[in-house]
Amino acid sequence: MHEVSLAMGIIECLNALIKNQQMRSIEKVTVQIGELSNVMPEALLFAFEAMLQSQSINGLKNCQMTIQRVSAKAVCRQCHQTSAITHERKRCLYCKGNDLEIISGYELQISEVEGEEGDARDTY
Ligand SMILES: [Zn+2]
Repeated sequence: MHEVSLAMGIIECLNALIKNQQMRSIEKVTVQIGELSNVMPEALLFAFEAMLQSQSINGLKNCQMTIQRVSAKAVCRQCHQTSAITHERKRCLYCKGNDLEIISGYELQISEVEGEEGDARDTY
């Protein structure tokens, strides 16, 4: 299951912030998921919460995940307009061309971390 390894990666990433003392504890993490990334937000949330409970990592116990869906967009190489696209419909809404450059929709990243800052921050 893709979402489990993704949740694991996010937890490792957050754990590293705590280990490096950039954060003392993390209460909120926001993850951006593009519409084309094939990740089910509910499954990711479920995997994340289950993993946090079973591992009980210091500083991460109360961490809540928020998922931000990023809509898929593409720029047309013919008419240079930006269109919303989906898996099924990847063509320009203006000239109906299909020579598109996808500019968003494949995101899978942590966009924001909130919590108590650690000691390492002050020294930078
Ligand atoms: Zn076009």
